[in-house]
Amino acid sequence: MVSFFRFSFIISSMNGERGHFETTGRELQFGRWVNRNGIKRFLLDLDDTICVTRPIFRGAMKEATEIIAAHSSIMTQEQWMEVLDRIDGGLFEVYGVNANRWNITIETLAKKYGLYRHIQKKAKQILQNIYTTPLKMLDGAEEGLDFIKRVGVPMGIVTHANVEWTLKKFAWLNLKRYVSWDDIFVVDENGHKSSESWAQAVRKFGLTPIECAVVGDSPRSDINPACEIGVRHCFMVDNSNRWTIHNQPVDQKAMVIKAINEIAEAALGR
Ligand SMILES: [Mg+2]
Repeated sequence: MVSFFRFSFIISSMNGERGHFETTGRELQFGRWVNRNGIKRFLLDLDDTICVTRPIFRGAMKEATEIIAAHSSIMTQEQWMEVLDRIDGGLFEVYGVNANRWNITIETLAKKYGLYRHIQKKAKQILQNIYTTPLKMLDGAEEGLDFIKRVGVPMGIVTHANVEWTLKKFAWLNLKRYVSWDDIFVVDENGHKSSESWAQAVRKFGLTPIECAVVGDSPRSDINPACEIGVRHCFMVDNSNRWTIHNQPVDQKAMVIKAINEIAEAALGR
């Protein structure tokens, strides 16, 4: 069995873009690890796993609170930011990642502290700019995805956002290099990304959890739910972009990496 997999792996490498002779030892080793563990597909989260998203939110929140602070001296900009973050965190539990929750966040803020209508309007506009600002790849993400592609393991993306914004990210990041649009599973923006979402995504690809490896940055929405449904190989991208609401102790099985380009190193244990 093992030799069959090795053989088929070499054949697939020969048909790959770089050809057999350029296939590195690292790719061969990782390909063997993938086959040995019965992994048929890598399922990856998108925001702050592949692309830089959280800093775009922080930037818009800072810009909105600067305008609020300039018109209302009851708090400093930093304090307004803290309050905004807290209200948004609470609304996330109710409304998920629906972009409309920002309007409710500002209205809640206005009700509690009193804000002029034109300031509310301006703050709401700034926060909606989040969804039209082009996103960039995280450092190491491109290198890591290129590597997985060269090894020949199919990929899928499991993202919690609205479809329209996901389509924009697909274009901005040129994700068609790695996946087709049909390989993207969008979790309903009005709910939460849970073990059921991951189970649905796994089924969409016609696989079982043990046939998938999962990569994500959120303990709450990616790593723990994936471990819960029986995914054996989870890679947690640990970067400074994480939202507080996503923090949770992670399952010990999870391998912690700084970026996608560290997957092979973590899997092969060196
Ligand atoms: Mg994420």
